[in-house]
Amino acid sequence: MSYIKQYHIDNGFRFVVLDSKFDKYICQCIDYKKGCPWRLRASYSKRSSKWEIRKIDGSHTCLSTMQLADHVNLDSNQIGYIFMNSVKENPSIPIKTLIAEIKKSFRIFDFIWQSLEW
Ligand SMILES: [Zn+2]
Repeated sequence: MSYIKQYHIDNGFRFVVLDSKFDKYICQCIDYKKGCPWRLRASYSKRSSKWEIRKIDGSHTCLSTMQLADHVNLDSNQIGYIFMNSVKENPSIPIKTLIAEIKKSFRIFDFIWQSLEW
């Protein structure tokens, strides 16, 4: 899920989750009703003990006009995921470095922080 979110943040696409259960995950482009065909279905495989993408319908044909700061897929879970990985690798990582890593992952943070400053 994290990779799907990151892909969308990086490329400026947005998706909505239609169904999210312990063994099933279905999402589609936020512009699906406006004609963008992108849809993804994943499920948890007991055999491999991994999440597997079962089906991807089409590619995004939507043109994103949103402000990056409004990105719906950039949520606390996604930020937490990046923090968690960095802290796991280096438990004594300074907060300053964590902030720098988040800024690197989301170029948009500069924009958000700039708009918060005034
Ligand atoms: Zn789309």
